[in-house]
Amino acid sequence: MKVSHLSVVTLDYSVSDESGDVLDSTEGREPLVYLHGAGFLVPGLEKALYDREIGDSFELDVAAAEAYGEYEDDLVQSVPGELFDGMEVAEGDTFVADTDDGHRPVTVVEVTEDFVKVDANHPLAGVNLHFSVAVRDVRAATAEEIAHGHVHGADDHHHGHEGCCGGHGHAHDHDHGDDHECCGGHGHDHDHDHAEKADGCCGGGGCGRH
Ligand code: ZN
Repeated sequence: MKVSHLSVVTLDYSVSDESGDVLDSTEGREPLVYLHGAGFLVPGLEKALYDREIGDSFELDVAAAEAYGEYEDDLVQSVPGELFDGMEVAEGDTFVADTDDGHRPVTVVEVTEDFVKVDANHPLAGVNLHFSVAVRDVRAATAEEIAHGHVHGADDHHHGHEGCCGGHGHAHDHDHGDDHECCGGHGHDHDHDHAEKADGCCGGGGCGRH
């Protein structure tokens, strides 16, 4: 069976940056199981997986624009320190901010007496990625999985929600298995993607959020 839209795909992968540092890998872990076409992977990797079959393995370079996006200078902003209302903030802190694009994780990059400079770029924005991928399994999604927009494990609903770091794993909220709402716990990346993509996670699910 070939990988197609809304296949459930099992992958082993390793992803590194241009200097060869491994950023994430399934080595020594469970492989990644995900719903293909639902935006779980970075776009460049998802595209490259169409029509692959069980047993295929390949190497792939994905430019930043097809991965976590180009680094955008205007996502770095200085906000008045008083907005933090006495909260202790330090360089390197991350938190979720309300922005024009919805909730985004931001990183504090500078703190002065008057302002706090925050960066809403993804930590991997601007990074060209190299993937090594092996396709372990491909199956059709169940109607329920398509409705939920995510994969269900054989005996554990949460199985398969973990380790989605080939794509947007950081944005996954592990609570989303509990509320059973399509996209319920997915972070900014997923919601953002889905809003732009008619055939995304909620395309056939009728979850009512988009
Ligand atoms: Zn579910």
